[in-house]
Amino acid sequence: MIRKKKNVAIVAHDNRKADIAEWVDWNWKALAQHSLVCTGTTGKLVEETITKKCQDNDFFAPTVTRLKSGPLGGDQQLGAMICEGKIDMVIFFWDPMEPQPHDVDVKALLRISVLYNVPTASNRATADFMISSPLFDQDYKPEVKDYQSYISRNIEL
Ligand code: PGA
Repeated sequence: MIRKKKNVAIVAHDNRKADIAEWVDWNWKALAQHSLVCTGTTGKLVEETITKKCQDNDFFAPTVTRLKSGPLGGDQQLGAMICEGKIDMVIFFWDPMEPQPHDVDVKALLRISVLYNVPTASNRATADFMISSPLFDQDYKPEVKDYQSYISRNIEL
């Protein structure tokens, strides 16, 4: 169940960090109603941006949990949180123009978000659609495929 108050994961590769800072700055009020979970360096940027906006406007700043930096395991930590049902939405501005040292981790995070049917935005337009959806501030029950037949499959030894 995705609750009204959500755990929103935010990650951006270095070439997309300016984009994410701008997006958070623009959407601070909507984001301030939720809890944010970020990879390390993105989290620093997000925390600074949203805290300033909240202070300037007399709002409580949201919790920003900072995991390890992406290439140091942060993407994998996020993936594990998705498996445990602790992430409701992923905003992941990944870089389409440069290979990343942790490419496999990036792929794993994107795969696991699809597997668990977690809404995931890879670019600003999708992130804009998601944040302006009425569902962003409502409870929502996503359909998660039942993997029971896979789990209990017969293994021939
Ligand atoms: P970072 O990691 O926020 O620590 O830069 C982002 C990533 O996953 O590459």
